[in-house]
This record gives sequence, structure tokens and C-alpha cells, in this order.
Amino acid sequence: MSQQNAPHHPLGAATRLLHAGTPPLQGGSGPVNVPVVRTSTVRFEDSAAYADLHHRRVAGERVASYGRHGLDTHRALEDAVIALEGGHRAFLTPSGLSAIALVLVALLSPGDHALVADSVYSPVRRVDDSLLQRLGITLEYFSPGQDDVAALIRPNTKLLYVESPSSLLYEVLDLPALTAIARQHGIAVAADNTWSGGWFYQPLALGANLSIQAATKYIAGHSDVMQGIVVTDSPALSQKIAVAYEALGLTIGADDAYLALRGLRTLPVRLAQHQRHATQVAEWLLQHPQVSRVFYPALPSDPGHALWKRDFSGANGLVSFAFANGVDARSAEGFVDALHHFALGASWGGYESLALVAQPERLREHSAWQDTQPVVRLHVGLEDPADLIADLHQAFAQVAARTRLAA
Ligand SMILES: *Cc1c(COP(=O)(O)O)cnc(C)c1O
Repeated sequence: MSQQNAPHHPLGAATRLLHAGTPPLQGGSGPVNVPVVRTSTVRFEDSAAYADLHHRRVAGERVASYGRHGLDTHRALEDAVIALEGGHRAFLTPSGLSAIALVLVALLSPGDHALVADSVYSPVRRVDDSLLQRLGITLEYFSPGQDDVAALIRPNTKLLYVESPSSLLYEVLDLPALTAIARQHGIAVAADNTWSGGWFYQPLALGANLSIQAATKYIAGHSDVMQGIVVTDSPALSQKIAVAYEALGLTIGADDAYLALRGLRTLPVRLAQHQRHATQVAEWLLQHPQVSRVFYPALPSDPGHALWKRDFSGANGLVSFAFANGVDARSAEGFVDALHHFALGASWGGYESLALVAQPERLREHSAWQDTQPVVRLHVGLEDPADLIADLHQAFAQVAARTRLAA
């Protein structure tokens, strides 16, 4: 079908996501998916073409004059991500952490102060300790839902950095309230949106200025790519990020861009299935005598449920739970070791199930986490939920047997 025959009513999100970045037909035909365009050197017709492209790129246009700036595969992925997050420009980085570091370095200068939610992905603190402090930049951690953020803002505060739901325990933040405070003070807001894959949460629509994702997780979706994405909401912020992106020489390979784009096309169906399976597992855990708490915002019993319902249109495959009294950290490790269908591993967002003993106390400076019972983080994958539940059942039984022996 040609563009002329395309329907004119506003397109749904899945339609936009599936068709953004599709290559144009050439000579009457073409592939559905964009080819992998690998290159370092770009050739030019003549010096005038070279000068023209250079000027357009410096002016902020996304044209390629060298492999580092990315070619067709990168553009297609950027277009699809912009369609997903509703932003102005997308920047592709070699990992989720490098996307976070890019934002912090691009927006903060010596003497600047930034407020960071204390429940964010913990390696953010490594960027702080090992890089930002040396540059004379101060990050201050606040406890979302407890601290008065407006009272923490200083004259040199330039950035509010959040993640919702948070890592490990999935605390849902009131992002519209936080972005309203930041806007009053002229402070930019960056939100890590990895949890939703960009599909059922739109931080930019809720007032954030930058959305960051580890595309490593749900966008790539197959545990075989490392990648980060920064999406900006305005030309001014795009320019700031572009300057640091250029200066740091950041880029990704065309093969990785291709894999992320390929994953992105099936993001909505994968996430819906992760949610269905995770909900079954979470509900089963909720009634288990060896479990004291289940962390999953889609459960009505979760403290973040009301905010989640207001701001999100779905949930993912991450479910954490705390053991009931009497189970110590070693037994929690025994539980994870006893699982057959959940691999023991960090990261998440692939099609497979994972389990890890989490350490939420390590995230906190304000010790909002005061429980002492060990927490296990599950990534509920696309296997049959009945098999996953049977696996959890036998692992709990092993822990119970061991606890009885020790008593
Ligand atoms: C995994 C993760 C990151 C980092 O992504 P990498 O690609 O592993 O560097 C950032 N934020 C969140 C919330 C994550 O879960």
C-alpha cells in the first residue's frame, strides 16, 4: 500500500511502533525490516556534497558523514524509539549505564547539584563516586514519598533524576508531582524508564524532559544485546546531549541497532505475556506461608498500586518477594540454587526466567527499607507459568526442610 492510501485517523501506539523506521521501497519493492548498514567511512559525491552534509549535521540534522554518527539502521531504531517514547531525539549508547552517565555528564557542570531518588538502579552511585565527585558535581539522594523534594532544591540544583518503579522493590513514584516541582524551579527531570520498556509508561508525557532506557532489557528482549537509549523532549536538550555524545565518541554497532529494532517490534506482545505470567506467579506467592511480602505494583495489595493504575497501562515480568520470618540470607541463596527453570543471573528483560537474592538495603541511604527478611527478585519469563510455579513450590519445600533440620 502506498503512503497516499494510508488512513488518516490517529494511529494506535502499536501501529506507530511497528511501522516507524520501515525502509522506503526502491524500484517497487523492499524488505520489511531495515537492512544492517555497517560502515565506518561514508563516501561523498564531491566536495560540495561533503560540505553540505557536514553543515547540516552540525546544525543538528540527523545526517551521516561518518560511521560514528550511525546510518540507516541506527536512524530506523531512533525513529521507532521516538515513536515509542514520544520525544524529540533519541541517542543510542553502548549500555544502559552509559546512557545514564551520558545524561549526568551532559547536564551537570562543576559546582552543580542534582537530586537523585535513593531507590534508583544502584550503579548510578558508581558513576557518582568514581566520576562526578571528581568533576566537582554533587548528587544528593532523597527518599521518594518521604522527603520534601522542594525543600531539598538548592540554587545550584540542575537535575532531578528518578526511576519509577524503582529497582528491586518497584516503588512507584508520583512523577507528575515531582516534575511539577522541578518545572517551578526550572530544573530538568530525567527518568529511567527501563521497567516499562517505554511501552506502558511515558515519562515525557508526565512532564519529564529525558527518558533513559537500558535497551539491554525489554527492548532487545532476548538477553543478547547491551544497549542504552536516551530520548529528549526538546531541541535545546537534544543539543546538550548531542554535544556530550559527540565529545565522548559514543556510538553503537549497526548489528546491535538491528537486534534492538527487531526486539522492539514484538515488545507489546512480549510484555503482555510477561505481565500475565508474572501476575499468576505474584498471586501464587501472595498466599504462600513462607512469603511475608510480594512486590508487584499490579497487585492491589502493593503500596504503589493506586499510582501505578493512574500512570501506567501495564506491568512487566519482575516480581520480588520477602521471605517470612525464620528464613535467613543463606536459606534464600539455597532457595535460588534449588530452582530449575529460573536461571541464577543478574539483568532481566529477556524471554527467560531469572532469580537473584536482592539486597534492597544497599540501595538506600535513608533506610526506607527497614525489613530484615531476605528478598528474592524473580524475572518471570515466557515459560509455562504452571512449570514456574511448580519450580518455586519445590524450592520453598527444600528451604522449609532445611530450616526444620536446622531448628
Ligand atoms: C539494567 C539497568 C540499567 C543498566 O543497563 P545496562 O545495559 O546493564 O548497563 C539501568 N537502569 C535500570 C533500571 C536497569 O535495570
